[in-house]
Amino acid sequence: MGENIFSARLKSLVPYTAGEQPQDRSYIKLNTNENPYPPSPQVQEILGTFPAERLRLYPDPQCIRLREAVAEETGLEPENIFVGNGSDEVLSFAFFSFFDSTRGPLLFPRHTYSFFPVYCDFYRIEYVRVPLEEDFSLRLSRFLEEPESCGIAFPNPNAPIGRAVQLEEITRLLEQYPSDRLVLLDEAYVDFGAQTAVGLCRDWDNLLVVQTVSKGRSLAGIRLGFAFGQKPLIDALNAAKDSFNSYPVDAVAQEVGIAAMTDSAYYQSINSAVVATREDFAARLRETGWRVLPSKANFVFASHPTLSGEMVYTTLKRRGILVRYFAKEEINRFVRITIGRPEDMERFIEVVREL
Ligand code: PMP
Repeated sequence: MGENIFSARLKSLVPYTAGEQPQDRSYIKLNTNENPYPPSPQVQEILGTFPAERLRLYPDPQCIRLREAVAEETGLEPENIFVGNGSDEVLSFAFFSFFDSTRGPLLFPRHTYSFFPVYCDFYRIEYVRVPLEEDFSLRLSRFLEEPESCGIAFPNPNAPIGRAVQLEEITRLLEQYPSDRLVLLDEAYVDFGAQTAVGLCRDWDNLLVVQTVSKGRSLAGIRLGFAFGQKPLIDALNAAKDSFNSYPVDAVAQEVGIAAMTDSAYYQSINSAVVATREDFAARLRETGWRVLPSKANFVFASHPTLSGEMVYTTLKRRGILVRYFAKEEINRFVRITIGRPEDMERFIEVVREL
């Protein structure tokens, strides 16, 4: 087989590397920001009673009942909601639909979700990484200092940093940014203490907010993500989806999604437990001399006083704990530690004390 079997497009790709899911032994898995608690009992019930007969038919391509359940939960209308196969897919459709660098580069934070540059390469979108402040916070007015852009994308809370911006700051950005350019807000981690901007979609027709069930609803295995925005934005995403795969969200995922959306009380309780564990863990890790950045996510970004992120990662892995590190200038001293159950974090602290 010659090299020519592969398209030039394919050969130019640099794919995203997801956190490892090793099968060789059991680890305390604090590397992919999964929720440590199980999904709502209603999800288990649906999985037990879902009629296999229904799988004979294609799923509802418009996810109508699921969108109604999400509308109920968010206070928006179903026409303001797009459903995709995980928020990575939703983000990908958004990058395709709204960012066109003939109008200037896309702007996103220097340190952010590492899938953003991957989508840009995939869709040939030029981009500029806007620096963070010295304390790794994101000052949104930095975006406005760039002379040209075709849009702005950032996660809130930011990944892998964990710091969040306030709603007022997002409003100020929308007031000052041209209304014919999209602001894409990735709220993958919003359920752990940050403020959601979903309500702002009513006032701003250039705001698209993306969320996932993977973290806050403890459903990373089911692959469901949402986008919220005014109808023309949602129609655009549907046009992109229907040019790619008209049935991305399967029938089981839709039912599971409905079950999860209708049990918010359960999720508030498990997510508050995650937040309490995070605060306790961050304080204790600081006591051992680590630097721990303030976080509103279900992870913390932290650095050991002397060891590099890679060294910490390797040492912890040998002891059965998985975390993530990023071999990038400015953040290579840090590791990203997912918040697990209190006993997982206890074990982490024990191991760290021995280092
Ligand atoms: N956005 C951010 C910032 C993330 O960290 C992740 C998880 N890797 C996602 C989006 C995608 O989540 P999912 O595809 O599971 O919905």
